[in-house]
Amino acid sequence: MTLDDIRAAAARLRGHVAETPLPRDEALSARLGQPVLMKCEYRQPTGAFKLRGATNAILSLPAGVRGVVTASTGNHGRALAHAARALGVPATVCLSRLVPANKVQAIRHLGALVRIVGDSQDDAMAEVARLVAQDGLTQIPPFDHPDVVAGQGTIGLEIGTPNAVLVPLSGGGLAAGIAVAIKAISPATRVIGLTMENGAAMAASLRAGRPVEVAEVATLADSLGGGIGLDNRVTFALCRDLLDDVILLTEAEIAAAIRHLGRAGHVVEGAAAVGHAALLAGKFVPRGPTVTILSGGNIDPAQHARLMQEDAA
Ligand SMILES: *Cc1c(COP(=O)(O)O)cnc(C)c1O
Repeated sequence: MTLDDIRAAAARLRGHVAETPLPRDEALSARLGQPVLMKCEYRQPTGAFKLRGATNAILSLPAGVRGVVTASTGNHGRALAHAARALGVPATVCLSRLVPANKVQAIRHLGALVRIVGDSQDDAMAEVARLVAQDGLTQIPPFDHPDVVAGQGTIGLEIGTPNAVLVPLSGGGLAAGIAVAIKAISPATRVIGLTMENGAAMAASLRAGRPVEVAEVATLADSLGGGIGLDNRVTFALCRDLLDDVILLTEAEIAAAIRHLGRAGHVVEGAAAVGHAALLAGKFVPRGPTVTILSGGNIDPAQHARLMQEDAA
């Protein structure tokens, strides 16, 4: 994966995804004595950056593909459904019976065919494999795919050449893509991955030196949960080679960052607040202009209201 792949993805994505704003966090910049800028990816039409990778992957498919399929319940499922409808490609999202009705409805509303099978994420993934083998559908995974990584990496072309970029880290598609772009354009820029203290599979894998599994734990940063795949092909090696550091955040630190951003009018989910969490907690000390990636805004409104209220108490 090179800068050229990401530039090609950016050309492909023009007109299909938003070029999101990069405003300054005035309060935090004043407090820390360095400019802090926020890449507002929660303002993509589906509420998260995953629209970039999903759209680039669909636009890169060979002609004659019968349809795309995924088992994602979260921001990737929404992105794939939205991108597929916009591009006129049939999309199927396989979900287990455990997925809440509101999430199922949201994906149906975006125009995807929903298949409900079994009662675990593993069952949903087995159904994806069956549809690939028997119906000839093409699987678009949420992170471990070169076209997905290149799509996410287009963010790296829209943030200038700061001293550091703070990137939410789960499967590593976002961090790997941004790191490939930024390290090519501005080698001195530090690229830092941020994730929650418990249940972070990429952080554990980077420590172990190979992909490992971790137990899932409930977290405010629910979009950062899930494994990286023991047979990871793309993102593990890129994150290992290109990230300068990985910082882990507590639930209280993530909650404080959601509140800080909420007060400034940025309604974001926990996964999107981890960069600010590191800055607010002093776990990352900026030495120059610093960009945080506000990766998504799909937080339950009642949960967001509760978090904002705890502040007043
Ligand atoms: C998927 C996601 C991430 C993490 O992206 P990876 O490519 O899996 O590392 C971060 N924030 C939000 C909002 C997401 O949906």
